[in-house]
Amino acid sequence: MKSETAVTTVSLRCIEESCGARYTVTSTTTQCTCGNLLDVHYDWPELSPQAIKETWQSRRMSLDPSDLSGVWRFREMIPFLPPESKIITLREGNTPLLSAPQAAVYAGLEEIRFKHQGFNPTGSFKDNGMTTGVSQAAALGKKVVACVSTGNTSASLAAYAAYGGLQAVIFIPAGQIASGKLAQALEYGALTIQVDANFDATWKLIYHLVEEAGVYLLNSINPFRVEGQKTIVVEMLEQLGWDVPDWIVLPGGNLGNCSAFGKGLREMRQLGLIDRLPRLAVIQAEGSAPLYRLFQRAAAERKSPGEIGLRAVENPQTLATAIRIGAPLSWRKTLRELEATQGVCEAVSEQEIADAKAVIGQSGIGCEPASAATLAGIRKLAANNVIRKSDRVIAVLTGSLLKDPAYTLAYHQGTLAYPSASQQIPIQANFGNQPVSVPPDVERIKKLLARQPH
Ligand SMILES: *Cc1c(COP(=O)(O)O)cnc(C)c1O
Repeated sequence: MKSETAVTTVSLRCIEESCGARYTVTSTTTQCTCGNLLDVHYDWPELSPQAIKETWQSRRMSLDPSDLSGVWRFREMIPFLPPESKIITLREGNTPLLSAPQAAVYAGLEEIRFKHQGFNPTGSFKDNGMTTGVSQAAALGKKVVACVSTGNTSASLAAYAAYGGLQAVIFIPAGQIASGKLAQALEYGALTIQVDANFDATWKLIYHLVEEAGVYLLNSINPFRVEGQKTIVVEMLEQLGWDVPDWIVLPGGNLGNCSAFGKGLREMRQLGLIDRLPRLAVIQAEGSAPLYRLFQRAAAERKSPGEIGLRAVENPQTLATAIRIGAPLSWRKTLRELEATQGVCEAVSEQEIADAKAVIGQSGIGCEPASAATLAGIRKLAANNVIRKSDRVIAVLTGSLLKDPAYTLAYHQGTLAYPSASQQIPIQANFGNQPVSVPPDVERIKKLLARQPH
């Protein structure tokens, strides 16, 4: 920290220290010329942590849109917009921290709490980052914004662009996106381009095209999206009374969100808002687990993961489509945050995800498949004694139950199957809840009711 001035200086910096390139905050590039990603870097003025906490609290009484947003309420941590800029907010954030005793029992822990990002306006954590990303696009004078998406990014981008008067162009892998997400993108008026390829291939195809066309890219490599997503952990810590938990657990796809959490945590410590860092645990689906495989190879070869480098999973498979990514773009950023927090990476099977999802549902909470990877991963890490029984664990549920109704119905009806390369592997409905059909017969219905606990 430096200087007495109240002004924060902001720049974009290459994450690769040996490169060290810097760009102005008004640069429209989302990647360094060396190929690495960029961070928003702040030289913070001297700020009193107690005063910041009180300011954030006092904004809860305000009716100003930027105070009602669970992202912009923490704007001292994301001061990258020029003061006169318009903020495009749908009152994102403000998501609850819910205790889930049933889920804790299932995982073998004393307690688990879920921070549920599915309570966001479009039903996923992508909204936390899209309010900052689209506001930056507007501040740069951009009219058209684009992304490649496994679903939630496109739903969120479409909504924020429409609300802010910008045009959204989204590229989605044909047939690999949950119906709720596609429906949202169409309803919010995005130009929706279905490409007959998976996420990774589509990204390679359009990345340069889009930049050449002067369209602003709002994939998770966009550093301003990361800034918004980082407030998820700020809000979480405020809800915990700034008492740092032992673990924060989240699913990993493109690995942007984990990088955002780590950056937010480090910056909170730098600003004196917290005095230590929790450990981060990233959970991937077994059929789509390039980061997990990297850690395995690093352990086997006794090298650091950074030295070895990520090897893409060629044909990633998982029914948790939000994390079906073989070549995660933010893997280096996430690696840095896992190192900073003594973090871990775990992988879970389709059956484990499906059952964990049903347990979260039975807790009255509910989430989409990718989010449930958290509970499945916690259970595995607890069984392996990485997470201890008495540890304080917060899992982040990334998306709403309503995003993927087809998956949920198929699970409860016992028809869910995992398409592996060679065959269909059925998923057991271990926590299934079949509907009961009856004729319009009072006696039959009475019998059913009599079986319920009184
Ligand atoms: C985007 C998304 C993820 C993965 O987040 P990354 O930042 O890509 O790792 C997980 N769950 C849901 C519901 C998502 O929408």
